[in-house]
Amino acid sequence: MELREIPIEGYERVLQCHDGPSGLQAIIAIHDTTSGPALGGLRMWPYTTRHHALRDALRLARGMTYQSAVAETGFGGGKAVVLGDAQRDKTTCLLRAMGRCVDMLDGQYITAEDVGTSVEDMLVVRQETPYVVGLPRAMGSSGDPAPFTALGVFLGLRTCVEWALHTTDLRGIRVAVQGCGNVASHLCKHLHQAGARLIVTDVVPAKAQRLAQQYGARLVAPEEMYALPCEVYAPCALGGTLNDHTIPRLQCQIVAGSANNQCLWEEHGDHLRQRGIVYAPDFVMNAGGLLNVAMELTPAGYNEARVLERVRHIATTVRTVLATAAHEGISTHRAAIRLAEQKLATVRQAKVYGPAGSETPGEVSVGGARVRHRRRSTPTSASTQRRQLQYSEDVLRQSEGEHGLGGEEEGMRAFPNFGNIRDNATAFHLAMDVIEHGHVAWGRAVLARLREHLQTTHDIKSVQWILPDVEAALQRFSCDEQHEMR
Ligand code: NAD
Repeated sequence: MELREIPIEGYERVLQCHDGPSGLQAIIAIHDTTSGPALGGLRMWPYTTRHHALRDALRLARGMTYQSAVAETGFGGGKAVVLGDAQRDKTTCLLRAMGRCVDMLDGQYITAEDVGTSVEDMLVVRQETPYVVGLPRAMGSSGDPAPFTALGVFLGLRTCVEWALHTTDLRGIRVAVQGCGNVASHLCKHLHQAGARLIVTDVVPAKAQRLAQQYGARLVAPEEMYALPCEVYAPCALGGTLNDHTIPRLQCQIVAGSANNQCLWEEHGDHLRQRGIVYAPDFVMNAGGLLNVAMELTPAGYNEARVLERVRHIATTVRTVLATAAHEGISTHRAAIRLAEQKLATVRQAKVYGPAGSETPGEVSVGGARVRHRRRSTPTSASTQRRQLQYSEDVLRQSEGEHGLGGEEEGMRAFPNFGNIRDNATAFHLAMDVIEHGHVAWGRAVLARLREHLQTTHDIKSVQWILPDVEAALQRFSCDEQHEMR
């Protein structure tokens, strides 16, 4: 088994996994653990190149960060992708090897089912690691997330219909569903019950035929999907279907589906807006499954009623995003990203400003194993940290002027976060500078926080090279303080 780190800016950790005996080739991307351990599914797909797989993993992991932030699950964003055809290449051996990779991350990444993997597959992964959710209900776990994802998508879709077409009555509304997998099957059931007219397609014709028969849907070829006259286009297959080639052809008024990363790039959200098409941002819409698996990890344990309550709230969030976008004159995609960034900033701020006692890293239990919430926050460059320090000094001076003593607390609030080895080394030196300039209590407070960060980080180099210096400095300055007190 070989795990190789791929340094990618903006991502906490990206790992290439290789296991010879099972033939496993996979990538695990951990985007952000500000809110908690990275939670995201395990996808298996026949990517044409490793580069495609990496790009998909990165986009999906980032999407999970946003999804978790908006849905306020208390988890971070990550994703794993396995290169291979799920029908042909998926073996017990391969899934177990993947489980061992996940296990090596010690709970920093928690996996679940996704495209190409199932609840049953998660049982196999579970043989190697406790860091897996979405196991069968019979095991006291949360089961298949797809019905919850579908419910959230259905409710969000209805909100969009209300927004764009001024009715909550879906009878006669034409919905073109792309992909007839797990989520789409449940979504079609809700839509059928609500009286919508369904049009379905799948690259696996048998899957589309099954849904067509079950719900009296019209069956079309995959390439026909984009130019279909309909009220709603519901992408429930893979990402990137909203792009330069497809958007000009769309004949729908609303795009609302479950697929992750529907917009190939951010500007495609703008293109949809320019065309007057109401787009329901994917990571807001498809959070139902995530809410379901995340509930499994709460201290109180799984509770379906509470999950359903939170899934119903997706409709409200969709409405908020639509209204914000309209008010600000921006795309719904950008409005959703802004909402996610705001929520992440609030969590980061709470970690720096948090009330007494809130600095203790949180813990969750996954399959009986304890997982510490890492306190990694915004990756900050050395120059940003310097700018922030200047700002901190200004705050400190101002605070000292206004309130006399106690300025270090104000200064501490503005002090930069910690991150990779470069950021940590910079933070250490800046703290020592602060001490040298006479702000001992402030510098010591920064060092204490840096020590706390280093004690929970997975960055081995930071631990080996910086932690001993931080501990020595803390010991020295606490001795000085005791000496002064005597
Ligand atoms: P799935 O694998 O069960 O279904 C996907 C289906 O799409 C498959 O039947 C596949 O054959 C089909 N497909 C692939 N490419 C296609 C194309 N070009 N045209 C038509 N059909 C195509 O996956 P799922 O669990 O139903 O998830 C569907 C989407 O929703 C994925 O993007 C997934 O990431 C996203 N999602 C799923 C969940 C969940 O709870 N399962 C949660 C959040 C997001």
